[in-house]
Amino acid sequence: MRKISLQWQITIMNAMVVAAACMVLCYFMGFTAILRIDQIGSSAAGIMDDEFEITVTEEFVRNVAESKSSFWISSVIVTLLVTLVSSIVMYLVVGYALRPLKRLNRQVAEIQAKNLSETQIDADGSIEMISLSKAFNSMLKRLGEAFTVQRQFAGNAAHELRTPLAVIRSRLDVFYKKREHSQEDYEEIMNMIQNQTARLSHVVDILLEMTQLQSAEQSEQIKLSEITEEAICDLTDLAEEKNILLMQNDEDASFYGNSVLVYRALYNLIENGIKYNREGGSVQVSVGREKEYAFAVVEDTGPGIARENFEKIFDPFFRVDKSRSRAVGGAGLGLALVKEIARAHGGDVCVLNSSAKGSRIQVRFCNLKAEK
Ligand code: ADP
Repeated sequence: MRKISLQWQITIMNAMVVAAACMVLCYFMGFTAILRIDQIGSSAAGIMDDEFEITVTEEFVRNVAESKSSFWISSVIVTLLVTLVSSIVMYLVVGYALRPLKRLNRQVAEIQAKNLSETQIDADGSIEMISLSKAFNSMLKRLGEAFTVQRQFAGNAAHELRTPLAVIRSRLDVFYKKREHSQEDYEEIMNMIQNQTARLSHVVDILLEMTQLQSAEQSEQIKLSEITEEAICDLTDLAEEKNILLMQNDEDASFYGNSVLVYRALYNLIENGIKYNREGGSVQVSVGREKEYAFAVVEDTGPGIARENFEKIFDPFFRVDKSRSRAVGGAGLGLALVKEIARAHGGDVCVLNSSAKGSRIQVRFCNLKAEK
């Protein structure tokens, strides 16, 4: 049954139901009639036994038997005819009713991955088909957007990896063209290779971390204040270089998650607070709880983030000022990673507010399921 078309499946099921109904109907209708005929036959036999009008009674009994068998034969013929006619009608009706589905099938078969978000399925007919096509169109839109993001991501990643490789190649070319090399030349080329490969491995490491995020265990009980303290402690040297004061509030919030990832998210936010800050500024981290979320707000005294970049800064490889950001060591992946980590913990990250006096970025984590 599974391998034949829906049209045939419905037709066969209909034929079986109609045949069964006809047979039941014929049986019950005939049962009463035949019972009566049998009673008449028996009374005729009684008359025959009493030797009254023998010829008439014999013919009558024969007629009774013939009527019985002809009744059954005609019942079978009528059942077959009704089943056949209703099956043909059903086949045509179902074929007509399934036309929008066949059209939908053709349209779906023509969909290409290239232009998913512009592709629209239009279905007519029943309410179900129209709502199916609407659901399908919105799925296509979501898929299209996801494909576009993925394509951009792959393009940006390739670009990010290509740049250091191009630098290494061109500098090596220049190096080999020079006939004689001094000790300084060697040191310079080694430094350059070291810097560029460090940049390459930094990008590759973050990309790998991002792909492994979803499968990471999230069952540890995390005390946000402890993780914040750890990150602040690890960033003290960097802060001292820029003479930046790191502060943390006294509150705490706990939830279930992955401590390595949460540390990474807080580390990136605080590190940015230090990197994009003025000399002698400060970074204040406030931990707390709000409804089902545990949150941390990182507040800095840097130059601020323009309103139009509030969301873009969380996109992979986005940098407000490419040359400046690259100079402070970023590939534009730090906040994208924070966003993915927050998402993996049922939370989010956003810029609460920002001005020329500094920015406030909030990350939230939610994991009430496992909470005690
Ligand atoms: P990067 O690794 O290059 O720092 P991020 O993803 O961490 O990349 O940040 C993206 C961009 O957002 C940075 O290039 C920077 O311009 C901007 N940015 C991030 N955090 C801050 C901040 N606290 N203040 C000002 N700008 C910031």
